Amino acid sequence: MTKQNDRKYSLATRIAQALHFIDPDTGSVVPAIQHAATYARDEEYKERKPYWYRRDGNQTTSLAEQIIAELENAEGTYLFSSGMSACTAAIEHLPAGAHIVVPRVMYHGVLAQIQIYEAKKRLFVSYYTAGNLDELASAIRPGETKLVWVETPNNPNWEVTDIAKAAEIAHAAGAKILVDATATPPCMTKALDLGADFSFHSATKYLNGHSDITAGVLSVRTVDEDWKEIYMVRKLGGTVLQSQDAWLLIRGMRTLFLRVEKSCKNALAIARHFEGHKHIEAVYYPGLPSDPGHEVAKRQTNGQFGGMMSIIVKGTEQNAIDVAKYCHLFYPATSLGGVESLIEHRKTVSGAGFPVHERLLRLSIGIEETEDLIHDLEQALERALG
Ligand code: PLP
Repeated sequence: MTKQNDRKYSLATRIAQALHFIDPDTGSVVPAIQHAATYARDEEYKERKPYWYRRDGNQTTSLAEQIIAELENAEGTYLFSSGMSACTAAIEHLPAGAHIVVPRVMYHGVLAQIQIYEAKKRLFVSYYTAGNLDELASAIRPGETKLVWVETPNNPNWEVTDIAKAAEIAHAAGAKILVDATATPPCMTKALDLGADFSFHSATKYLNGHSDITAGVLSVRTVDEDWKEIYMVRKLGGTVLQSQDAWLLIRGMRTLFLRVEKSCKNALAIARHFEGHKHIEAVYYPGLPSDPGHEVAKRQTNGQFGGMMSIIVKGTEQNAIDVAKYCHLFYPATSLGGVESLIEHRKTVSGAGFPVHERLLRLSIGIEETEDLIHDLEQALERALG
């Protein structure tokens, strides 16, 4: 399906061409969507490997996986029907009663899932403050902890955890480390190269980039027994990414580098504009030199920092909700990583019990014109607080 060449082209080039895809039968530069649920055996009554039944993936999902493996420098990559089903597989593959270490504040869905397992004593959990390596180290039980979970930068405060240092700490204690770097996709952050054992992304976000699928992806530095267990969770649970969505993901990834570059530029300009603004108490964005995670982020996000930020609005919780309501251009919607900019009052979305500032608005910065986005936020802030 893909063509070999002596010259190693840049990653951006290879991804723009979906690994120089050419359909061997038709010459099409766009893959077909493989919809079949089942596959006929050959004349010898043997399976025509590697595809035999839809629940185990097919050509369309495999191509999407190959592209992500290339982006991640991974030995193996599996796509799932959502980010949550991929995270659940990573949790589910652990032995009953395993000890894991996770951030106190992280994407609320994953935290909720871990806490459900904890309440049922399927897992034992110790917590650390995202970005704080001393707390992370003390939370680990050497020889006992199975997995350290890092989300960097984390939702919705965008605190930065040093992946290389966290990996060293985890490995010295005999634990594996999984990095959720959804907010900084693998064209910016290559978690496996920095020492992570598993890299996770909600591919619903930047990898797809068009807010028209849900998908999750796990990649591994070294294929081993744990990886095979994760594969079995997907296979038996039937949580493989479906064909149409895999195709949309492949199409979206062709423009990954371009989209991400524009989102990052927009985000930096917006963060700079609103830092110190009369209606804003704080801007959480690792791209600002004043941000505590700035230097680490610069190293591990290829100097780009990402398109996600949060602002703490002055005034009341209602003022913050009003800002989201009064935007004309930013959609008042959850999710992130699409070409369109989104704004959300995070407390409303993450629900009771999740630790989040009541005046925090999370912004996912898209690829629109910078000045239009700044103008939209300015007018909404003025209407809510002026
Ligand atoms: N991890 C992070 C950091 C996320 O932001 C999300 C979703 O917002 C997920 C995991 C879950 O992914 P999905 O919504 O694709 O299930």
